[in-house]
Parts: sequence; C-alpha cells; structure tokens
Amino acid sequence: MYDVLILGAGPSGLAAAIYAGRANLKVGVIENMMPGGQVLLTESVENYPGTVKGESGMELIMRFEQSAKDFGAEFIHDDIVEVELAGDVKVLKGANNEYRSKTVIIATGSKRRKLDLPGESEFIGRGISFCATCDGAFFKNKDVFVIGGGDAAIEEAVYLTRYAKKVTVIHRRDELRAVKSLQIKAFENEKIDFMWNTVPVAFIGEGLLTGIRVKDVNTGEEKVVESSNAGENIGVFIFVGNLPNTEKLVGHIDVDKSGFIFTDKEMRTNVSGVYAAGDVRVKTLRQVVTATADGAIAAYDASKYLEEK
Ligand code: NAP
Repeated sequence: MYDVLILGAGPSGLAAAIYAGRANLKVGVIENMMPGGQVLLTESVENYPGTVKGESGMELIMRFEQSAKDFGAEFIHDDIVEVELAGDVKVLKGANNEYRSKTVIIATGSKRRKLDLPGESEFIGRGISFCATCDGAFFKNKDVFVIGGGDAAIEEAVYLTRYAKKVTVIHRRDELRAVKSLQIKAFENEKIDFMWNTVPVAFIGEGLLTGIRVKDVNTGEEKVVESSNAGENIGVFIFVGNLPNTEKLVGHIDVDKSGFIFTDKEMRTNVSGVYAAGDVRVKTLRQVVTATADGAIAAYDASKYLEEK
C-alpha cells in the first residue's frame, strides 16, 4: 500500500514525487514510457528558473528524476488500464500489476492534437510530423510548413530554420497566439514566412508528402502549396494544441469537454484523495514551471489529507 501513487513522470509528477518523498511518504511513480513527458521533445529549456543555458529537456528531467529517487520515490514501469478511485483505497490496475494507494496524483500530461484531415494519417512519418526536434533534420534544404500559431508552432518554426530552406507558418488568423518574445524571434528570422487566415484542408502526395491543399478562411478560395523546387517532397509540422491523457479516467473524475481534469487551487479533483497536476488539468499556462508548482501543491495537500485521515 502506497501513501501516494503518482501517475505520470513528467515535470509535475516528478515534482510531486520529490515533495511527497521529502514528507517521508511511501511514494510510487508509474510511467508507461520513459520519465519526462513532452519536455523531452524540447531541445533547449529557456524559461524554467535556474536552468543551465543550452540544457535540453532531457537533461533537466534527468536531474528531476534523480532528485525524486534521492527522496525515496519508487519508479514503476507499467501501463494503467483501469482505475478505482472512489474508495479510501485507490486501486490502479496495470498491464503488469495492480497497485493500491491512499492517495493518487494524476500527472499524465497531454499529447499533440491531430487535425483529422484527409491524408494526415497516411503521411505521418512520410512528411507530416508533430515534433521538430525529432524530425527536423530529415528536411535539410527542403520547404517546410508549420501549422498553428501558438507557442509550440512558433518555437518549432524557429528551430526548423536550422535545417529547412524556408519555413512557412500557416495560421488560421492574422495574428499569432504565441508570446511576444517568440513572435519577435520568428518575425526577425528571414527564413520564416507567414500564410495568414489560412487552414489546411488536405495533404497530398504519392508515397511522400508533396503538397497541402489550403483554404483562405475569408474568401473560401482553395489552392495547393508545394515545394519551390517543383515535385520535391515537403515537411509539415502540426502544432494545433494538445489533448489530455485522460482516456482511462473519464467517468471516474470530472473533466471538461476536451478531457482536461477540473481541480481546485490545491489540485484536488472532485474525488476525495485524488489530485491532478500539470498539463492534464484545466489551466491557462502550461509550462514546466507551472507543472512543477502543481506537483508540489498536490503532494503537500495529499500529505495533509493523510495526516487528517
Ligand atoms: P495552443 O497554445 O493551444 O495553440 C494552438 C494553435 O493552433 C493556435 O494558434 C490555434 O489557433 C491553432 N489551431 C488550433 N486548432 C486548429 C485547427 N483546427 N486548424 C488550424 N489551426 C488550429 O497550443 P500549443 O502551442 O501546442 O501550446 C500548448 C501549451 O503549451 C500552451 O499552454 C503553451 O503556452 C505551452 N507551450 C509553451 C512553450 C514555451 O513556453 N516555450 C512551448 C510550447 C508550448 P488560434 O490561435 O486561432 O486559436
């Protein structure tokens, strides 16, 4: 029986493990892949206080993980397929084992949202990607298109200019959602162009992706954009927001219409003894710093809950 079981080992889960471990609780962290979550895809973390200049998401996470281990957290590799959260003893059923705990902190994070357009699934891995740091190098001196106008799209567009001949950001409005500092970087970069008020409607090619059918949202006019080098394959990086990893939890816990978990300011969900922290919960700012803060608050409240029980 654990005092605290943490589901997910991204920044929020690892911060919760550090705080719960430091409170002398018996802590388990369950992860179905490797610790880290989405920050592993970040080549350089610039906005987490105290990060070492040029440090990657992976390096930062390794230090988080070590701290959690130093405070006694046990790491478990399993895929949770079913949960029973309502009683005093919470049960998490995994593919390998069953786990029991007095409290649970859900820190399962989120994943990239797809557009669900014709050709999208077909060209994933053949021109379409959701991760610039993973796949950018495949498009050396090629024309690359980024879909979206948020922080992820603009940060990754700037990153992609290292490899691409040109990066065109296709955005559905005429202004970006990304923070000003990222916008300035993108506007100053000569390799980046913008296609405003435009959405993709289909992805085209034979074997490899060579074109995107796009629509002007104001006029409804459609056209196909292709490589400036006729017939050459192109890269498309899609960054249109995230979806929460809560599929196994829906029906057990209150979530919004997209599946993000509702919490109060102490990270409590509607189920007693169950918390949510990080990108998986309803919140406005999804960053490493807010994820770690959520994890700390959830662990602190879980330890108070255990004392009062
Ligand atoms: P986001 O902030 O939700 O932005 C999604 C972008 O995609 C928006 O520009 C949106 O357009 C566009 N979009 C959504 N649905 C679309 C559709 N069907 N067709 C075309 N465009 C569509 O998502 P994100 O950029 O992935 O960021 C997610 C969270 O992570 C945010 O909280 C962000 O701040 C954080 N993040 C932070 C950093 C950093 O701090 N360096 C880096 C990456 C992500 P509209 O603008 O018109 O809505």
